[in-house]
Amino acid sequence: MRSFDVVVIGAGAAGMMCAATAGQRGRSVLIVDHAEAPGKKIRISGGGRCNFTNIHTTPQSFLSQNPKFAISALKRYRPADFIGLVERYCIAYHEKTLGQLFCDGSAQQIIDMLLDEMKAGGVTLELGVGAEAIERTDNGYILRLPDGPVTSPALVIATGGKSIPKMGATGFAYQVATQFNVPIVTPRPGLVPLTFEPGMLDRLRGLAGVSVDAQVSYGKTVFREGLLFTHRGLSGPSILQISSYWREGNPVSVDLAPQTDIGQWLADVRTRNGKQSVLNALAELLPRRLAELVIAETGIAGNLADLGRKGMDAIISAVSGWRVKPVGTEGYRTAEVTLGGIDTAALSSKDMQVKAVPGLYFIGEAVDVTGWLGGYNFQWAWASGKAAGLAI
Ligand SMILES: Cc1cc2nc3c(=O)[nH]c(=O)nc-3n(C[C@H](O)[C@H](O)[C@H](O)COP(=O)(O)OP(=O)(O)OC[C@H]3O[C@@H](n4cnc5c(N)ncnc54)[C@H](O)[C@@H]3O)c2cc1C
Repeated sequence: MRSFDVVVIGAGAAGMMCAATAGQRGRSVLIVDHAEAPGKKIRISGGGRCNFTNIHTTPQSFLSQNPKFAISALKRYRPADFIGLVERYCIAYHEKTLGQLFCDGSAQQIIDMLLDEMKAGGVTLELGVGAEAIERTDNGYILRLPDGPVTSPALVIATGGKSIPKMGATGFAYQVATQFNVPIVTPRPGLVPLTFEPGMLDRLRGLAGVSVDAQVSYGKTVFREGLLFTHRGLSGPSILQISSYWREGNPVSVDLAPQTDIGQWLADVRTRNGKQSVLNALAELLPRRLAELVIAETGIAGNLADLGRKGMDAIISAVSGWRVKPVGTEGYRTAEVTLGGIDTAALSSKDMQVKAVPGLYFIGEAVDVTGWLGGYNFQWAWASGKAAGLAI
């Protein structure tokens, strides 16, 4: 039977970082993935340019049942550490917006860098190899693979979450957790478009493809980024961000013109040109199709000069205080991440090891730590992979 110091299941962002780190510390490491290529999500991330970190990473940018869990790993492996690695490989990058760093070239550069790092650590990478079953022995673990079992004292589960099954996501980590009685925080799709009921979709039908800068709130959580009307409901960065907080049955609030005090603005344009139609005035502030919908929904016609207090309030509320109740999300099919996962209460925050099951580690998206949109999820993958890699 083949034997290694460490076996990592899942050659994604977290698994490759962990394998490279352990390998470079002199451990013999096998990393397996059922996909035919490593880092498939890295390759498609950031529109093919990989938003590989966020320079504003703080623990506040992550959702978890225990918000303090991620602090230790994030402190010990910071965005600057990953940027240092990227610079050593002469990969050109830029800040796009809000601290988000992207490759100038292609996400494949990040995958190649991680492959080189694994090579430098003498890591054995086997692709097209699905993990089948795990057994615990007195000395560690036996992993059953299609071409025979392998044994190791340390087993790292880096198989990610359930998002985008067609890219190889399996929920395998939750099966392993169940096998070893490790608690799970119920997984759900995150960073995902929100959907509307058919009646609402009908009213908004003409808006598919329209995008605006918006401020979207759910309770005390507020994001100001782009919003996109779709054929199914709402998407765009602000909506993806709020979707990780949103719970079914509740409305979200949307300000479609957050840069403008709409009441003051209407009063000003009315003073300047009372003869202008309300529609034409609104179309200077919002995309025309959206302005038309506001007019249709509020039932307001005519010129600014005719706009009374009631009409003004109706427009303010439609534009700045739109409360909309989604019926659901697009689900794992399009979700960028999976919220929930391995309950952090069961893990050591130092090295991601299951406290009650020595030698078993969970890292990356499989764990109940989920970042905002904008490079935070990769930073968690790097940091948790590094934490485990330094310990095994
Ligand atoms: C479209 C899209 C764009 C994204 N863009 C960004 C971005 O720009 N910035 C950012 O920070 N985050 C982004 N994310 C999120 C980010 O990709 C993930 O959070 C990150 O990849 C998680 O890393 P991971 O290693 O934990 O899991 P993954 O990257 O999902 O890797 C898990 C690996 O395990 C393998 N696997 C699963 N089950 C088995 C099994 N049974 N046997 C063997 N192998 C198995 C899979 O094939 C996969 O290679 C994006 C996600 C998506 C879907």
